[in-house]
Amino acid sequence: MSDRHASATKAGKKANRSLDRIRIKRRMMAKRCEELPVGMAQAEGHTVLPITQRQAMMTEVARTQGNGHLLRMVHTVQRDKQKPITTPLDETATINKKGAAELRVGEIAVVVMPDGHSQAKKMRDKAHTSFKLNGGKLQYKHKRGIVTEIIGAVPPPITVTIKTVYGPSAAATDPSAYGRGTTEKDKKAGNTSLGFHEGQHGLDFMAYLKKQPLPAFAGAVGMSVKEFRQAIKDYKAAIAEYTKIMDATSEKSTDCVGEQADFCVEHPQ
Ligand SMILES: [Zn+2]
Repeated sequence: MSDRHASATKAGKKANRSLDRIRIKRRMMAKRCEELPVGMAQAEGHTVLPITQRQAMMTEVARTQGNGHLLRMVHTVQRDKQKPITTPLDETATINKKGAAELRVGEIAVVVMPDGHSQAKKMRDKAHTSFKLNGGKLQYKHKRGIVTEIIGAVPPPITVTIKTVYGPSAAATDPSAYGRGTTEKDKKAGNTSLGFHEGQHGLDFMAYLKKQPLPAFAGAVGMSVKEFRQAIKDYKAAIAEYTKIMDATSEKSTDCVGEQADFCVEHPQ
């Protein structure tokens, strides 16, 4: 989710092209996240499976998602050290030593990184909030072409990392140029900042994770290695599709409302 704030609008077409580049880059980044080493089965992704389906699939403890519109402030000693995090968080989030917030969204471990700052020219007057899916290795043993054992949780536990990055001359307090922050409701509520807008992307991601069950992994002991590898391939493809839709869903609800972003014509509502 790349966003320009109001002053970027003046830059006209040049800024638009730049924005497109950033959007492409973001998509490429999302794609990279989905690429897994070939051979040794490894999975990246995220899951919100119903408990009945979950069983041995995930080991995490469920907690609720972040919500609200204020940046989390940690009390007392930690307050001075607290790095700004644009995505609104609720009280279930804890801050780790690196200043990142850790929380659970359904079955998924979510880490919201402290805001980043980019000096890249193409990020001038812009911010973006992106997510990555990180999974562990899925290892298995086989004998005479048959899978005999899957090691560890299936699929491996997933962590979703969310981060907002501000480019040169862009700040959370700048006005949002489009989408959330420009709707009548947001304006009435005084929620017009770029930071508010970016925070909505973070909330969108968590809401999606909470609502949409991840694809199941079909691999099992007793399958032929060939079948098992196909199951891994299918799982990765399904995760990639899930990721794509998660991203597009946020774009639609946060960028293509109110004063719609120029790229919204690609996805007419
Ligand atoms: Zn946006």
